[in-house]
Amino acid sequence: MKIDGACHCGAITIEGEADPQKATICHCTDCQTGTGSAFRLSVPVPGANFKMQGTPATYLKTTAESGNPRLQAFCPRCGSPIYSTTPGEGQQPSYMVRVGILRQRSQFVPSRQNWFRSALPWVMQLASIRQNEKQG
Ligand SMILES: [Zn+2]
Ligand SMILES: [Zn+2]
Repeated sequence: MKIDGACHCGAITIEGEADPQKATICHCTDCQTGTGSAFRLSVPVPGANFKMQGTPATYLKTTAESGNPRLQAFCPRCGSPIYSTTPGEGQQPSYMVRVGILRQRSQFVPSRQNWFRSALPWVMQLASIRQNEKQG
């Protein structure tokens, strides 16, 4: 399906195509730190149809677990995570786009949870935590 999205401040917008079945949660500690949250939710977007307006800031992070360096891209103004990809010049084969920046975010239901061994212990009990329809 076609996707489009923007960072929180709007300086960076993206477009592309993604398969909603391929959304993946990552509970690894790098993703917890990189999002400032409990886990990361991403979906792969082929480089061939990935378009971006604006220039993200990037850093390379090699995780001890996988040993593969990943280029992490985020908005330099508001800090929203945009994607990760393989390091290198020019268009890359695939971009792991952060689902939370997509306008279609509600249509991406994750099909897999990776690095569950470092998942925060309460994530499986979200439904039992008191819910306020708006700010409580
Ligand atoms: Zn921004
Ligand atoms: Zn991760």
